Amino acid sequence: MPELQFTCEHCNQPIEPAEGALFITNDELQKAESFIQNATAATGTTGDAATDLLNFVAAQQQRGQYQSMHDSCSNSLNLSTAYAIELTRLSTYGDLLAWNAHLQEKRWQAGTNFAGIMISKAPALPS
Ligand SMILES: [Zn+2]
Repeated sequence: MPELQFTCEHCNQPIEPAEGALFITNDELQKAESFIQNATAATGTTGDAATDLLNFVAAQQQRGQYQSMHDSCSNSLNLSTAYAIELTRLSTYGDLLAWNAHLQEKRWQAGTNFAGIMISKAPALPS
């Protein structure tokens, strides 16, 4: 079993690494760009770590969304213009960190939910 386990957002079943990808569609990339353009300075923290984390997770929903799916489940989507990472290249937390570093160079990355994915896959959260 891979260190990172992704669930298909179409059929809700676990995805074996050779059977799927994490991707962001062109529509979601445009949402990410809009999020960046419309972002305000209203990103203050409350000082309470649990509340801040909940607020952070809620704010992730407004961003361009990466999705994980089986290849067979994403057949009906037009992914020709999507940015996709095959799960064979994303099976450990180290892989996720390397992809995060790589994706920082993309102008739209800061407007996506990738940081939320990193938190959800983290072995343990700092307290
Ligand atoms: Zn599926």
